[in-house]
Amino acid sequence: MIELLFDQPHEECGIVGIYLPQSIASLTQAAEFSLFGLIALQHRGQEAAGIAVSDGKEFSYFKGQGLLSQVFDNNNLHKLTGRLALGHTRYSTTGASSTRNIQPYIIETAHGPLALAHNGNITNAEQLRQRLLQKGIGLTSSSDSEILLMQVAGATGQNWVERIANAMTEWQGAYSLVISSRSALYALRDPWGFRPLSVGKLPNGGYVVASETCALDMLGVSEWSEVAPGELVRISQHGITRQSVCPPASTSALCTFEQIYFSRSDSIWDGRSINAVRERFGAQLFKEAPVAADVVLGVPATSIPAAIGYAHASGIPYTSGLIRNNYIGRSFIQPSDELRKIAIKLKFNVLPSSLAGKRVILVDDSIVRGNTSKALVQLIREAGAAEVHLRIACPPIQHPCFMGVDMGAADELISHKLSPAEICQFVGADSLCFLSMAGMMSAIGSTNGYCNACFTGQYPVAIPQNGKDRFEQTGIGGLEDD
Ligand code: SF4
Repeated sequence: MIELLFDQPHEECGIVGIYLPQSIASLTQAAEFSLFGLIALQHRGQEAAGIAVSDGKEFSYFKGQGLLSQVFDNNNLHKLTGRLALGHTRYSTTGASSTRNIQPYIIETAHGPLALAHNGNITNAEQLRQRLLQKGIGLTSSSDSEILLMQVAGATGQNWVERIANAMTEWQGAYSLVISSRSALYALRDPWGFRPLSVGKLPNGGYVVASETCALDMLGVSEWSEVAPGELVRISQHGITRQSVCPPASTSALCTFEQIYFSRSDSIWDGRSINAVRERFGAQLFKEAPVAADVVLGVPATSIPAAIGYAHASGIPYTSGLIRNNYIGRSFIQPSDELRKIAIKLKFNVLPSSLAGKRVILVDDSIVRGNTSKALVQLIREAGAAEVHLRIACPPIQHPCFMGVDMGAADELISHKLSPAEICQFVGADSLCFLSMAGMMSAIGSTNGYCNACFTGQYPVAIPQNGKDRFEQTGIGGLEDD
């Protein structure tokens, strides 16, 4: 796959929940708002998408593979009638991208229909899966998200709040969830707070829950707040209630990579503007690794704020000498050797007029396998640059992620195998420096409360040995990393 030639970590998933008041006349507005919210979250998953809508009695849904613009049209969207909607946009890493794994999942339970959409990855999924199977409960997919839904459906409790709270006590790892019964919307976040989730009030009196605040902005929300770690939000015709149902972990473990790469730069998370954090990464990188140069260049699009931060701090002009094609999407063409050579040009092109004869500082957000960095350095040299100095706006990624991010297996990570000096030689740069861990955290503005396991190998939740072995073989722990 051409996608495999690019070595950035892959986004996990984006989730949206919509609850509209009874005064809304249009019965398709919840589905439309879900789609708009998902469009704002398309960067979190481009492989498949789905929307499920409750009309108060039952769910209708539509799911498909591809970008939102490929999955949804007027015809299928307008069959989704009701005031309560869940949406999901998905990334997966392997051939397990079959339609049976596309969310939201919807099942019938003893207490009525239930739908769920999940962002994250449960680290004890294999144990939970075995427990369900041994009880004779069949599963239709390889996704950990279906396990969560089945556990909620079978949990004890007088109502869905109690059942969800009871099921949560068994879950380890990353889960931001939107769940819908036929008449109420629930949103919850794991006690570590790995993945973002926010809730806001719509101008029409309804509510929206979404992975990132950029989706709330798209829907005109002005009043919003983050769902707290361990918090369960319930939205129904009686309004909104919020309660802490699972004590937050003693130390939260927000995913640092949301700040570095995943979240859109116009989102706000942990009370911080992602764009401002990334600019501070760049400024800090200049403090730690200055170099004499003529221009600063950012790898579009996520690295541009860090490059601007580096340029402002150093006084070296920023230039847009690297152009990205945003429309290549995911291609399933198997690359030939010839295609492999030109694949990087499908995604990036350079402006020789901005680079010829210049000493260039290239700022990138991260290095995973090193292939993209190597190809970009070569492209910039071919455009006539006199020197190329690579600056990376995070520390070396040395360990895989088990909490929902596809970094690849340990032996695929270039920083697991090579020192920065060796990587510099491999990518063909004149110099290479990574942002330090202390510098990254001071730029975020927090010294603790974040997960840094992909840099340190210190995981905030237990990683089962069998899951670790399998992950290191397959890169996905045998389970979907929704
Ligand atoms: S290991 Fe890295 S990518 Fe995974 S949750 Fe922790 S910080 Fe995020």
